[in-house]
Amino acid sequence: MADSAGNDTAAFDVVVLGGGSGGYACALRAAQLGLKVALVEKGELGGTCLHRGCIPTKALLHAAEVADSSRESEQFGVRTTFEGIDMPSVNEYKDGVVARLYKGLQGLVKSRKITFVEGIGRLVSPTAVEVDGQRYEGKHVVLATGSYAKSLPGLEIDGSQVITSDQALKLDRVPTSVVVLGGGVIGCEFASVWKSFGAEVTIVEALPHLVPLEDEQASKMLERAFRKRKIAFELGARFSGVEKTEGGVKVSLENGKTIEAEMLLVAVGRGPTSQELGYEQVGVEMERGFVKVDEHCRTSVATISAVGDLIPTLQLAHVGFGEGIMVAERLAGLEPAPIDYDGVPRVTYSEPEVASVGITEARAKEKYGDDGIETLTYDLAGNGKSQILKTAGFVKLVRQKDGPVVGIHMVGSRVGELVAEAQLIYNWEAFPDEVAALVHAHPTQTEAVGEAHLALAGKPLHAHG
Ligand SMILES: Cc1cc2nc3c(=O)[nH]c(=O)nc-3n(C[C@H](O)[C@H](O)[C@H](O)COP(=O)(O)OP(=O)(O)OC[C@H]3O[C@@H](n4cnc5c(N)ncnc54)[C@H](O)[C@@H]3O)c2cc1C
Repeated sequence: MADSAGNDTAAFDVVVLGGGSGGYACALRAAQLGLKVALVEKGELGGTCLHRGCIPTKALLHAAEVADSSRESEQFGVRTTFEGIDMPSVNEYKDGVVARLYKGLQGLVKSRKITFVEGIGRLVSPTAVEVDGQRYEGKHVVLATGSYAKSLPGLEIDGSQVITSDQALKLDRVPTSVVVLGGGVIGCEFASVWKSFGAEVTIVEALPHLVPLEDEQASKMLERAFRKRKIAFELGARFSGVEKTEGGVKVSLENGKTIEAEMLLVAVGRGPTSQELGYEQVGVEMERGFVKVDEHCRTSVATISAVGDLIPTLQLAHVGFGEGIMVAERLAGLEPAPIDYDGVPRVTYSEPEVASVGITEARAKEKYGDDGIETLTYDLAGNGKSQILKTAGFVKLVRQKDGPVVGIHMVGSRVGELVAEAQLIYNWEAFPDEVAALVHAHPTQTEAVGEAHLALAGKPLHAHG
């Protein structure tokens, strides 16, 4: 049997189910290594990250930064008048960025001679995916069906007053007020955008801190900055219900408080897309809906691998890329090393940004004991470029006593860009004095990373006390 590209549908080396970050990275790398690949996608190539995640949110955050700059320009002696947000034009800009990247990605897949199959796929055997009655057989199958925005029991998403990030990215206006349920990365990023666009924002988080997976000091710094920006938040507060009102929603918390707003954004995490896709029937072991894998992303079925948000690892696009590439290389007979997930950089792109790599101080204490670590916090007040930008924050280092740096945690405008150096430091197990010996460019924010290491190596330069 042959498909439209003239390929024998029974003769693929790899059939990838899902064309998001994990799936397409796997397909591209496998094709590069000479394997014959089919990539099945029911929606748009690029998945959540490109169409409903990383890229459109970062475009909104950039528009938010421009709004803040024009509103606050007098601080820098520049007179501008901020007239407002033209949401259709913001969306046009955002959609233009997505469209260009989408086109580029489609071209890449085509140029690598991957058979792109449009349609809903279903796993029908350890070596086959079926799409619209057609069977695509491969020596290997890679599951990469990603994730969806979760809600809470009894909390119904209506798409207009109670929304998820999917609808939030398509709003044609700036809401006057929003309650954001969930103070994780996605919740904090939308809160930051909407505040910059002029909305009143309240975040409700059940855990004691915003971005609760980050080092507590970083969470507290973000909270301080958000407080200054007049982004309200309720911490350690559990949601109990939502009522529709004439003007929008009335959100009740278990602590008895109620908050009224035009809409409620539900950002309580993402669940794996794994239902009714044939996974269990074929014998793929699952746990809480996630596909279980070993450190090389092998499932319980020898011919099936799984990558991305579908497996219980960090739900990040670059983790999907890394897993996809690793699986492709393994299937091509190479011996890729497993991913050290602690060594994967994490960035929250709010204003200010939060960026980290390695482990938190709390985890380092568990691992090495209270006396087995040293920490150092370098205040961005001492960093020239950060002062020029008028941003507050820090670079915090956690090191194993007399050993390498095991955690780098940063808060401040633009610190997401500093995570590249931080990840080399962590992943190459650098000692503070090794980094201190490297001369950093002045005046940059990367200098703060250098200065933090100078200080931890016992020779602080622009640091007090
Ligand atoms: C608002 C938001 C902001 C984000 N920001 C960032 C960020 O800044 N940085 C970052 O690293 N990560 C970010 N993420 C997370 C990132 O988008 C995901 O980690 C990433 O997209 C996961 O890739 P994936 O391939 O596993 O899944 P997905 O991207 O979800 O792709 C899965 C694909 O499979 C397809 N599919 C599903 N079922 C079938 C089927 N039966 N047949 C055919 N196709 C199917 C889907 O249509 C989809 O295209 C963000 C996510 C959201 C929601």
